[in-house]
Amino acid sequence: MTDARLQHALALATDTRAVLVVPGALGAVESVLAAHFASGPCLLVADENTMAAAGSRVAGHLQASGRLAAAPLVFSGAPRLHPEFDHVLTIEAFLRSTDATPVAVGSGVINDLVKLAADRLKRPYLCVATAASMDGYTAFAAAITHDGIKRIDPCAAPRAVIADVDVLAAAPAEMAAAGYGDLLGKVIAGADWIIADALGIERINPTAWEHSQAGLRHWVGDPAALSRREPKAFAALIEGLLMAGLAMQAARSSRPASGSEHLFSHLWEMEGLPRARQIPSHGFQVGMGTLASAALADRLLATDLDRLDVEAIVEDWPAWPKIEASIRAGFKDERIIASAIEETRAKYLSPQALRTRLEVIRKSWLDLKPKLRVQLLPAEGLKGMLKAAGCPTTPQDLGLTPDDLRRDYARARQIRTRYTLLDLACETGQLGLLVDPLFAPGGFWSTAS
Ligand SMILES: [Zn+2]
Repeated sequence: MTDARLQHALALATDTRAVLVVPGALGAVESVLAAHFASGPCLLVADENTMAAAGSRVAGHLQASGRLAAAPLVFSGAPRLHPEFDHVLTIEAFLRSTDATPVAVGSGVINDLVKLAADRLKRPYLCVATAASMDGYTAFAAAITHDGIKRIDPCAAPRAVIADVDVLAAAPAEMAAAGYGDLLGKVIAGADWIIADALGIERINPTAWEHSQAGLRHWVGDPAALSRREPKAFAALIEGLLMAGLAMQAARSSRPASGSEHLFSHLWEMEGLPRARQIPSHGFQVGMGTLASAALADRLLATDLDRLDVEAIVEDWPAWPKIEASIRAGFKDERIIASAIEETRAKYLSPQALRTRLEVIRKSWLDLKPKLRVQLLPAEGLKGMLKAAGCPTTPQDLGLTPDDLRRDYARARQIRTRYTLLDLACETGQLGLLVDPLFAPGGFWSTAS
């Protein structure tokens, strides 16, 4: 089953030709190179941790076949490597000396750094995954920090990925937990896409939808098996993460893998969660965003948006200057403010456009609601799944107070143009009405319950 889904997706992919997910896959590095890359030398890039996890063995195989062009480029393992653009330039300089095939051995950061460096040289590369920690392996973009600001740089996905299930299962437990959080977020991302499609804002791409959603319940179905370190759980998790990347490759957009849950994580990543004991991984932040969105969705599904008082909502709709003022008051960093103004402005509706939108919502709600019920899972259930996988589930775990999180429902919506259930709640005048009770006694985020 695993292989059938991946093979089908690969047949439609533009960049990635091969993905190998089996125990002992490291031993196949030579045959993967022979089948999918030009003959000739390779250069290996890793950090000290990923070198120990898999890099030394990969280097050994390359050496034995006479393919290793030079000693591997190994970054320091501590403190944790960050995806700085300077590292991209270092890797690019290392690769430039020959026409060798780059081999990235690592997880999110190493893969993204090599992905961008290889793309700048227009050279296909091989990725050897060392942890099932995020969905970026097969995505067509890299998240790189330029002058302190993280940016998504579009670039070619790896030509081939080797994911040795034994290596993934031996990685630190919190890495797979993070991957699980990132993957579980697809429940919300799918719901957001269903909404955007129903309102005629962003149509569902059936291929990308199939890639990211068809196997989702299977991939996320047994989180406790990850804690028990069962190999089949790691195989299912990495399949889901790789398929999410292939979905983004198919759609040429992050939409299939990223909705409102990622807006929360992007917001926290941009601002840095200063009160967290240590910076939580991307997947842990997405897991929290997933709960935030799901708790709102639970309440949204209980509303009668088919009976909206359109004229009353249009009457209360804030004029743009008021929105802009709320962004200036809501964020501190000038660069984030400038970007949020631009993004929010792009989806801001005039009163007349809002009236039209609300009519569409009113007419489509009874059709849309059952589709969302099928797609979504209740927030309490998702919380149990995240807990079983070893992910944090309270705002305090991320250094957020309940008040911070309450404000972030409005702010997350403002940082990206992407239309999500946060916009649906906002445009229908429901956002505050639905969010505030989540923090009241008995509400999902109540600390008293
Ligand atoms: Zn993600």
